[in-house]
Amino acid sequence: MAHSLFDNKSVQKTDNLVHAIAEDGSCMILCADTTDLVARAEWIHRPSATVTAALGRLLTAAGLMGALLKSENDRLTLKMQGSGEVGGLLVGADAKGHVKGYPFNASADLPLNDKGKLDVGGVICGRDEKGELLGGGLLTVIRDNGETQPYVGQIPLVSGEVAEDITAYYATSEQIPTVCGLGVLVNPDLTPKAAGGFLLQVLPGGDDKTIEQLEKNVQAMPPVTVMLEQGLTPEEICIKALEGLSPQILSKQTVSYQCDCTRERTDRGLLTLRKEGLRQLIEEDGKAELCCHFCEKKYRYNKKELEALLAQAEI
Ligand SMILES: [Zn+2]
Repeated sequence: MAHSLFDNKSVQKTDNLVHAIAEDGSCMILCADTTDLVARAEWIHRPSATVTAALGRLLTAAGLMGALLKSENDRLTLKMQGSGEVGGLLVGADAKGHVKGYPFNASADLPLNDKGKLDVGGVICGRDEKGELLGGGLLTVIRDNGETQPYVGQIPLVSGEVAEDITAYYATSEQIPTVCGLGVLVNPDLTPKAAGGFLLQVLPGGDDKTIEQLEKNVQAMPPVTVMLEQGLTPEEICIKALEGLSPQILSKQTVSYQCDCTRERTDRGLLTLRKEGLRQLIEEDGKAELCCHFCEKKYRYNKKELEALLAQAEI
């Protein structure tokens, strides 16, 4: 069973992310159905319902933002950290629609919040005895092309509900008026029932009229998971959000959960222990097992393999 899930050909809805733009270039939207992607994350990490919702929302945001990366080698990292029980969430995406992530503490959980919803904000930010959200949480956005100095943006968490934090990030760090909607519905057996999201942005050509129309459209839209459950496709949601602005479909692509870990990369990780650390590992344990946080794949090393790495280590 483990094999079929880690197989790249495993079931994945094709073209589950759609990019559309208003005919006059005043605004654009990205919308994705990430139900399968979040199901894969849930299968790997076995989180509580609250953490599935938190991680699923951040994975969806990364998939949407990854689609905006400029070149093939660009990578995006999103990290949310607060005083909540989950400890933090780390998510990565590339421009090809590959998304991966993990919660620091998958079993963290809280009762439903006062709206009867999974308490994503509480599990990330933490709550005081009165039930108020704790401050001090951060959202970090890193864009790296592997060549020049990575771009790092950081903002204080607004609510820990993820979509509001992403919206605030675009407004403060990038000065792009944005509306982000993210949702994950969790089944009683903890698998996701529906997951998805959208990122709606006003482009430099947009004016007050564009914003007015978008606000009208967004207010009329039910939550994204409700629309997905009603059977709406990401394309139909894009058209709904850009109603009255002559929406044009720019592109369609697939976003899926995929880890890019390799044995070579794990080798490099072990080499950072340097000769001294490797020698100690060989003497004390005679073997090593490293587990990838993103996909839980285990890389095992016997004594001989560790000795080969020791011989390779320069310092
Ligand atoms: Zn991995």
